[in-house]
Amino acid sequence: MLDAICELETEDHLTARTTYSVFKFQQLPDDDIERLRQWLICPACGGKAYFRKASKDGKAACFGSRYHQADCIEFKPSAQKSREEQDAIEVQQQLVDAKALMIDFSRKSHRHSLANKAAPTSKSSSISESSQVSVTLPAGAQVQESKTGYQVNTAAQTIETRVPSQGLEKLLHSLLRGTDLAASELWVYTDSDRKYRWRAKNLFVNFADADPLDNKPHLYWGTISHTDKAVSWLNPADSKDIGIPIDGIKQALLAQFEIEDKRDLEGAGLILFGKCFWNKEKTRKIIQLWNNDLQRIFISKLED
Ligand SMILES: [Zn+2]
Repeated sequence: MLDAICELETEDHLTARTTYSVFKFQQLPDDDIERLRQWLICPACGGKAYFRKASKDGKAACFGSRYHQADCIEFKPSAQKSREEQDAIEVQQQLVDAKALMIDFSRKSHRHSLANKAAPTSKSSSISESSQVSVTLPAGAQVQESKTGYQVNTAAQTIETRVPSQGLEKLLHSLLRGTDLAASELWVYTDSDRKYRWRAKNLFVNFADADPLDNKPHLYWGTISHTDKAVSWLNPADSKDIGIPIDGIKQALLAQFEIEDKRDLEGAGLILFGKCFWNKEKTRKIIQLWNNDLQRIFISKLED
């Protein structure tokens, strides 16, 4: 359970309800945690809930409840929900432990890795899960960091450092579940040549914050509201004036994520590396997938 509601009675006997993600809650000052932790309830069934701090040996902080209703979704979460929560916890742990992160655009999704296990002929994608990529970090970061942009590594003197890698799927689930990734100072590499690195907070941009004037690529993320009739555009739920054209890559994209029906896209999570710009009339923002490269987009569809 990654969210809990804190229900407090105010002085005028009203009930104030605040929803906390476990990632936010664990960052509250100790006094606040002690004051609030006895007033937590399950967001789905209202059962009395508890907060457990992260353990010294690395177990993540969590919410839980021993009082769920028998039919509560938090009591028996779907396989999809459990997996997405595990993804979010894994990325949060990397944020805490690692000095940098490398995005592995070639990493296959859970679903595909299951398929790969059934057919052991495909070897290349199985190196990944917890693989470490060796990356050269500039010794004593002397390069000036621009405010929103990426940084090009030109430093001649470099030291070898192990950098964990992560695929788009888990990064997306982490962002959707409200980990600290979107606001993190962590360095993130976006290319296998290890040339471009960004602060995570500058790289990951929710669709609602897309700026057509900043003229830099980002990893835009959020959820899909719907597509047009011809399935030529993806329309994010996070912002009404953005369109993501997929006409040129439609067949391959839909096949890659096993999308058979427009409905499969409604409510799906989406992350893509691309640039945002205005259309000619400046009435609509366009986010164009980088080089139409299908490795640089991930769609997390709902499994029901
Ligand atoms: Zn419950």
